[in-house]
Amino acid sequence: MNGTLFQWLEAQLESLKEQNLYKPLVVMETPSEARITVNGKKGVINLSSNNYLGLANHPKVKEAAIRAIERWGAGAGAVRPIIGTMSLHMELERRLAAFKHVEAALVFQSGFTANAGVIPTITDAEDVILTDELNHASIIDGVRLSKAQRKIYKHLDMNALEEALKESQGAKKRLIITDGVFSMDGDVAPLKEIVELAERYDAAVMVDDAHGSGVMGGGRGTAYHYGVHERIDIQLGTLSKAVGVMGGYIAGSARLIDWLTQRARPFLFSTAQPPAVVAAVLAAIELMETDSSLTERLWENTRYWKEGLRKLGFDTGVSVTPITPVMVGDEGRAQQLQRGLFEEGVMALAIVYPTVAKGKARVRTMPSAMHSKADLDDALMAFEKVGKRLGII
Ligand SMILES: *Cc1c(COP(=O)(O)O)cnc(C)c1O
Repeated sequence: MNGTLFQWLEAQLESLKEQNLYKPLVVMETPSEARITVNGKKGVINLSSNNYLGLANHPKVKEAAIRAIERWGAGAGAVRPIIGTMSLHMELERRLAAFKHVEAALVFQSGFTANAGVIPTITDAEDVILTDELNHASIIDGVRLSKAQRKIYKHLDMNALEEALKESQGAKKRLIITDGVFSMDGDVAPLKEIVELAERYDAAVMVDDAHGSGVMGGGRGTAYHYGVHERIDIQLGTLSKAVGVMGGYIAGSARLIDWLTQRARPFLFSTAQPPAVVAAVLAAIELMETDSSLTERLWENTRYWKEGLRKLGFDTGVSVTPITPVMVGDEGRAQQLQRGLFEEGVMALAIVYPTVAKGKARVRTMPSAMHSKADLDDALMAFEKVGKRLGII
């Protein structure tokens, strides 16, 4: 290995460790369920997964994937625009458009690539992008790939957004981008207000609903929850979180999808999703549409979990969704809480800088439809014990 590169890597890693920012991977030996075997420890309560509805390991979803491999093979064989599009991909896109009540949808390999695909493809140098300061990393990277000017507005601050809209009135097009549900705090964008501002100032709106998909609006997302889905130009959804498998999609007008099909680079230059993934997603959507008990259970557990933490005296921040941060502040202490919880059989990851601001470290928890009340009660006992020991409560 090149010596200069080696020394640089060594110094970078040392520096992360000194700042308590170095995070080794945790390894599961079981499917993503309510209780998992992780780093060799059995029966650990899983509060870190985005598998909100338990679809990642649902028998019907697995069965669909297995059948698809037998019918279609393991891989798609090419990028979508060459010869990687199977009728199965088209079926999924029709299904997603119908599910979201929009004209059309286009599937990408992940939510991350969907952001990288759409943002630079619909903006250019004469345009301005207005983006919430706490938007997800993949939005930030998508914006970086665009030649448009950017204005970052204060988190959820509608006065700041209006100010930015006034300042950018000379732009050819303007695009407001926001997370639907913010992934670190679990708060929700005020989409009605955003849409009203957008209409007043002639801007388009894009909502990244990665954590809203399958969770908000009976599964149809945050825009649907607020009843503004027809006034939002671009919705991004993931198939990797509540839907339980892998992928991302853009939902919107037929014209938007037509353009992305011609020009979005991850769509053009990265291989189509394998048929097993597509079939598993179709089965997961079928379940979401026909069995509302999954989302009901998720929200019931969410209420129970938040109330339990609050009663113990924890600060759960501003969350109104299943994403429940337990605010700690100091990076080192957040990691101590994570380690203490793990010793007590609870998997909840510390989230530290640079994922969140310095001094805003937290342990992020996510109850799911898979948890029983007993799972949540056991986890609350562990939080109480470790929280008291560390002086957090
Ligand atoms: C997780 C996430 C993504 C990325 O989705 P993947 O399908 O995992 O690539 C994009 N945006 C937001 C807001 C997310 O939380």
